[in-house]
Amino acid sequence: MDPFHDYYGIPWWVLLGLWSFIAIGLHVYQVGFIVKLIRLGKDDDRFNSWKQRMKEFLTDWLGQRKVVEDKLAGYAHALIFWGFLMLVSDVIDLGTGGLFAELLEKIYLANIWNLIVDIGYTMAGIGILFALYRRLIVKPEKLKGASMEGVLILFAILGIVLTAFIVEAGYMLGEEENHLNYWEPVGVLFAKQMDSIDTETLGIIIDVSYWIHMILIGGFLIEIPQTKHSHLIGTIPNVMFQDHNAMGTMNPMQTDENDVAVKTDDLDFDNLTLGVNKFEDFTWRQLSDGWACTACARCQDVCPAYNSGKTLNPMQIIMDVKNYGKEHGSLLLAGEEPEETIVDRFTPDAIWACTTCYACVDACPVHIEHVPKLTDTRRHLVMEASEFPEELQNLFNNLERNSNPWGMGAHTRADWAEGLDLKIGEPAEYLFYVGCAGSFDDRNKKVSRATAKLLKEAGVDFSILGEMEMCNGDPARRAGNEFLFQMMAEMNVDNMNSLGTLKVITACPHCFHTIGKEYEKFGGKYEVYHHSQVLNDLRQKGKLKINNFEDKVTFHDPCYLGRIGGETEAPREALGGDLIEMERHGEKSFCCGGGGARIWMEEDADKRVNEIRAKEASKTGADCVAVGCPFCMTMMSDGLKEIGDVKPVKDISEIMLENLNTEEA
Ligand code: SF4
Ligand code: SF4
Repeated sequence: MDPFHDYYGIPWWVLLGLWSFIAIGLHVYQVGFIVKLIRLGKDDDRFNSWKQRMKEFLTDWLGQRKVVEDKLAGYAHALIFWGFLMLVSDVIDLGTGGLFAELLEKIYLANIWNLIVDIGYTMAGIGILFALYRRLIVKPEKLKGASMEGVLILFAILGIVLTAFIVEAGYMLGEEENHLNYWEPVGVLFAKQMDSIDTETLGIIIDVSYWIHMILIGGFLIEIPQTKHSHLIGTIPNVMFQDHNAMGTMNPMQTDENDVAVKTDDLDFDNLTLGVNKFEDFTWRQLSDGWACTACARCQDVCPAYNSGKTLNPMQIIMDVKNYGKEHGSLLLAGEEPEETIVDRFTPDAIWACTTCYACVDACPVHIEHVPKLTDTRRHLVMEASEFPEELQNLFNNLERNSNPWGMGAHTRADWAEGLDLKIGEPAEYLFYVGCAGSFDDRNKKVSRATAKLLKEAGVDFSILGEMEMCNGDPARRAGNEFLFQMMAEMNVDNMNSLGTLKVITACPHCFHTIGKEYEKFGGKYEVYHHSQVLNDLRQKGKLKINNFEDKVTFHDPCYLGRIGGETEAPREALGGDLIEMERHGEKSFCCGGGGARIWMEEDADKRVNEIRAKEASKTGADCVAVGCPFCMTMMSDGLKEIGDVKPVKDISEIMLENLNTEEA
């Protein structure tokens, strides 16, 4: 029994052809519109490393590697996804009146194909039931208040699955005898339930199911480009063309044919767009993110700005890109500019709230790049519009005049080292790049002294730059003042290269990242180590005899060392002893709130990221919070004070120095 007959004198295939024409036509039209919008973006050459890209496609798209990191929602999604891949050929069969199956029959593949399709529908069905259970029964906080659109779509897909089984069963019941095909086990279960239904009613049920099935599939095709289901298409280029640069690496204003930054003196300002204000200022890959978002809200869950009550929601930023394109698409494609800009859509408050902690990027299952959208709009606000939080004006002035954020006399940069008898401005195996906080901030100067003492104790040959050292430029760069950053980077690179520097040690993860990952495009290629890496190495090799600490210690991973820098082991091993870990630690650590130049901006008392993190540290019951970053030192100390916890915050080097076994050394 099948549904392939005339309806009121009209052959089924005419009706289906009409519906397919409408559904496929609308789908193609809408996808074409999206492609044209994305093509408005600037070039971004990601058409390289094809082997790696294919591997990533297989693991991240086909294998759903990052999707399943979120267990319940992730596996539900993966079941639906894999199920759909397995069942999709059934649409061809149902659309051709069973011709596809007949063809497979001839080459003896029909049975195996039937089994695959049956399993596919079953997997999709189980996934849908999981997803409905999560949305309607578990109701996670982030889904409260969400529109019913998602639930309706899930029911629609469930409808596709159920009607497929009914039609499958109908095929079997239409056979004369031996009609149960056990290559379609779930279909058999349905057939057994339907066996007692009289032929006429059964015929109606099968016809109705078939048309519901085809109408839902066509409707789904029309719906895909309009809603978050655009990710069914959008994730393919997103995963294929993911960023191969080290996480957190920003692009220079202009690069030459070798992908090296054009010197500040040679910049071609006539052909330079400073940051992003218009839709077309984004690259095509930044724009494609908008249509790849699955609205899973994982980025929102981990965002310190969002979680501290600020305006920024990274998921909203991505949706803003898509919605802006959808709303202003006709105008944009006609070459006209909408009155509303991208900055208006994001809002300056949201743009300035980002700590550039990259938790959002790390959490995103489909490789969406949130942070460059925010730092690029900051570039526009600073370098084109001159509209930025007024506290940043001081920062920029201080960096310009004295190359440190506090504006302290540049000639006092090496004062912290008084009495330590260090090499200053001389060639050595390592350059200890102290950074601004380690040079000028009283609390962090103690960290520089502790680090230098340990290095000396272990006999490491190192030198500092002294007055030749500039700020690495991170605060200017993350705050959107790329021009200032580049000037500082160029000067630092000149100075470091003049000393023949090859290896750098730093106690600051921002210096670690900027010098190690970003200076290469400005002519500085160095091996850069966080001090915990070098100190741990010395400890492991027995060059530093350190007793394990006795206090109860918890370690706060700095974003630019752990998640962005990929180093979570060295600080722990360097410290030695059993740490009490905070719930969010390692690469999943929660930001202290100081990155992205946020440490230099005012923060409302009721929206402080550092207090959230301080509470997490306090909850461990540790006697001391260990840190490995000068910003974290300040933010965690302030946060603990605010919540009334008096436990000390110490750098890794300070704890190591306290536990140095001087008798054996
Ligand atoms: S980088 Fe951090 S603060 Fe910025 S949007 Fe992402 S999660 Fe939020
Ligand atoms: S941007 Fe990524 S993590 Fe955020 S909601 Fe979209 S898919 Fe999920």
